[in-house]
Amino acid sequence: MGDFFQTVVDLDAGPQDAARLAERVVGWLAAEGIVLAAPTRCLLGDGLGHEPGPHWIKATGEENADHQPYDGLEVHTERTVFHDGQGGPGSVICPRCGTTTGLDFGGPEEGPVGEDGTPPPGDGASPADEDGLPPVGGHGAPPGEEIWPKFGEAITTWYETGAAAHIDCPVCAAPVALTDWRWGDGWFSFGYLGFEFWNWPPLSEEFRARVADLLDGHRTAYHWGKL
Ligand SMILES: [Zn+2]
Repeated sequence: MGDFFQTVVDLDAGPQDAARLAERVVGWLAAEGIVLAAPTRCLLGDGLGHEPGPHWIKATGEENADHQPYDGLEVHTERTVFHDGQGGPGSVICPRCGTTTGLDFGGPEEGPVGEDGTPPPGDGASPADEDGLPPVGGHGAPPGEEIWPKFGEAITTWYETGAAAHIDCPVCAAPVALTDWRWGDGWFSFGYLGFEFWNWPPLSEEFRARVADLLDGHRTAYHWGKL
């Protein structure tokens, strides 16, 4: 048994407005009874979070009535690399030329990209296919293991300094800022505000949309994974 998290990330909030927006969202969640207002030690570590409230089910829907959450909400208001947990991203997509480059981590985790760098059969709903973009590894893109270290370095730099380093696209050669690259499976988000629910049943789309409505029209991302 692992610990599951689900995170709603505000992609546009900066360091200046993260705390203000966090207060607004937590205030709404507490008013709805979804979490308790007063922070307690209800997270996996020593940090303070918000315990599930009497009406937590508003976040997950009645179909989860038998699956009471057993940890709290962790609110991130500092620069954070959000992601989907174990393993790694399957691919990265250049926003300039639209080419998808597969990333191979060589680990035991089974990623969404096939052994030869192409999507598994039946994966017709991937964003690349919808846009009519070249398949993974097309146009002579080098193997993902050659480009991944550059992303790894850029992620470390962003985490430590907030500066988005540029990584040259292996296909069109355009320098693209770390935060402008798209992840084939939405694996990474880089942001200053995130609401991380630990060991809750699946948050409903309606609930996630209501949280997003409180964020000044900002774009949001949703991550889930397990430790
Ligand atoms: Zn490109």
